Amino acid sequence: MKKAIKKVLVVNSGSSSLKYQLFDMTTETRLAKGLVERIGAGGPANHAEALKQVVADLGHPKDIDAIGHRVLHGAEVFKDSVKVDAKVLAKLDKLVKFGPLHMPANIGGIRACQQIFKGVPNVAVFDTAFHQTMPDCAAMYAIDPKYYKKMGIRKYGFHGTSHKFVTQAAAAFLKKPVDKVNLVTCHLGNGSSLAAIKGGQVVDTTMGLTPLAGLVMGTRCGDIDAAAVLAIMEAEKKTPAEMDKLLNKQSGLQALSGVPGGDCRDIVAKAEKGDKGAELALEMLGYRTALYIGAYNTIIGGADAIIMTGGIGENSSEARERIIGRLGALGIKLDKKVNAKTRGVVAVLSTKDSKIPVVVLPTNEELMIAKDTVKVLG
Ligand code: ADP
Repeated sequence: MKKAIKKVLVVNSGSSSLKYQLFDMTTETRLAKGLVERIGAGGPANHAEALKQVVADLGHPKDIDAIGHRVLHGAEVFKDSVKVDAKVLAKLDKLVKFGPLHMPANIGGIRACQQIFKGVPNVAVFDTAFHQTMPDCAAMYAIDPKYYKKMGIRKYGFHGTSHKFVTQAAAAFLKKPVDKVNLVTCHLGNGSSLAAIKGGQVVDTTMGLTPLAGLVMGTRCGDIDAAAVLAIMEAEKKTPAEMDKLLNKQSGLQALSGVPGGDCRDIVAKAEKGDKGAELALEMLGYRTALYIGAYNTIIGGADAIIMTGGIGENSSEARERIIGRLGALGIKLDKKVNAKTRGVVAVLSTKDSKIPVVVLPTNEELMIAKDTVKVLG
């Protein structure tokens, strides 16, 4: 008989850091969490060394039953979470081009676990997988299809694990079967994306080939006319790498407000002091999020609920007010009192007479990864 899976280690290995959480899946409770930093930069030499530190931090456990890994990109190859074997690893190696920064670290984390936790199964959980149900009309770009065929250029979407978690949580909250819920899920954090959920499945999302597209984010510009990118490159003689840095790391709320990293709390504080750039940053965040909520509500034929999650969605009453205040045409009114006091807990932010409820549901990507790990191995 197969051994029941009890303890699941969730690993999120980035280029220079490794985050982990240990779960007891009989009760879905977290037993431990931690972070190893500066991998290859003064700290541990590589991910295997980082994992040795994790093992020591956890007191050399002998009872880890499975390991779930956050992996950035599954392209069209992985439409769901998967148990890792040699074939899967070979396929993953071919997807490095979709995430040159993250994928080598994600794959390195898996290989290191195979080495350190001998015989313990590994499961890869992809940020893109939940979005693989998008129809072509949402997923394709209107350019020569040869770029899709040759290079896989299309919309993939990210934060899939979070959108999936809150979709399941929303179904439970609304007391509806998951395959019957229509939602607009808003993951608003340093990186932000919306997903249009019809019958429990993604039919559109705001991020694209990469996480750069869509909403105005901490340091990413989101949607922009591609011709504006070309004009800047030409005028300032920028290389693609330099332009990538400008759009991903030096734009968004940070560029508008002058607040390093574009942290929402600091921007709110700056706007309250009358800073025009910070004020515009918050207005653009609210405007573009509301714009997509309206569009997605149309696409899914009417939402059962609008879901707010992520650091901003769960905590920032100021940002939420600027979004929800723009949803009057959908019959949604903000309950200002509830909004003002809601931080990181389940709450309905809309008034009782609103046509569509707006609900805060805290996300838990790590628990979703642990759940998927159990499901794949079970
Ligand atoms: P990441 O995308 O890196 O996971 P988070 O989901 O943690 O980021 O979101 C980070 C954002 O959430 C920051 O802009 C931060 O200002 C905002 N945030 C976190 N806590 C609060 C709070 N209590 N009030 C307002 N904003 C908050």
